[in-house]
Amino acid sequence: MVIGIDVDGVLRDFPDALFKAVRKYHPEYIPSDFTEITEWDLENNFNCSREELRQIYWYDHSDEVMGNGNPIYGAIEQMYDLFEWGEKEGHSLVCVTSQRKHAREHTLSWLGKYGLSFDTVYFRRGRYKWEVPVDYLVDDSPANWYFWKKGRGVEEGYILMDRIYNQKIKSTCRIKELSEVKGIITRNHNTDVTDKQLCLTKSDKSDFEFSPLTSSCLSG
Ligand SMILES: [Mg+2]
Repeated sequence: MVIGIDVDGVLRDFPDALFKAVRKYHPEYIPSDFTEITEWDLENNFNCSREELRQIYWYDHSDEVMGNGNPIYGAIEQMYDLFEWGEKEGHSLVCVTSQRKHAREHTLSWLGKYGLSFDTVYFRRGRYKWEVPVDYLVDDSPANWYFWKKGRGVEEGYILMDRIYNQKIKSTCRIKELSEVKGIITRNHNTDVTDKQLCLTKSDKSDFEFSPLTSSCLSG
């Protein structure tokens, strides 16, 4: 199997890095009752426009946000474990991330800094991630879930990383930790297992039904 892993919100704590940059350079953008980033549409978390926010993380301070963002707690160790498991089981781990062209170097150096040796790194806008030749994609984006489902015609293969900002998504395959990927794939592709399969891939026979999409995940 080929398993795609997203970076922001799966490996890298982008919300935390963004918040710290906003606090440092534009504290006036932070609402007085701010607790954490809870909305997928980032500007809804702050007192500024989408463009003003993008100026911070895409341009002015992309090195700080993308290059020096902290990993999500436990994610690096779990990723090492996935690499080892993939090697043993014959699965390939690739990185699928949406980054602006001029700032891609920050993500590449971030991956290198943490010793994450993916077979391949795909830079794809979220809406086109479904086109990347992977059997599974681990991603936190509610919008990408929608595009995957629409693009592939099925939800199967999209493993949603559970985050506060994607709770409205009625995913049939939601995980809280990267380590859960092993169990999902092993169960789905081990012919000795007779239990119900989890998070089937497109090529598998499926009788899954999908919940109607909520409008909130169309943006972002
Ligand atoms: Mg992400």
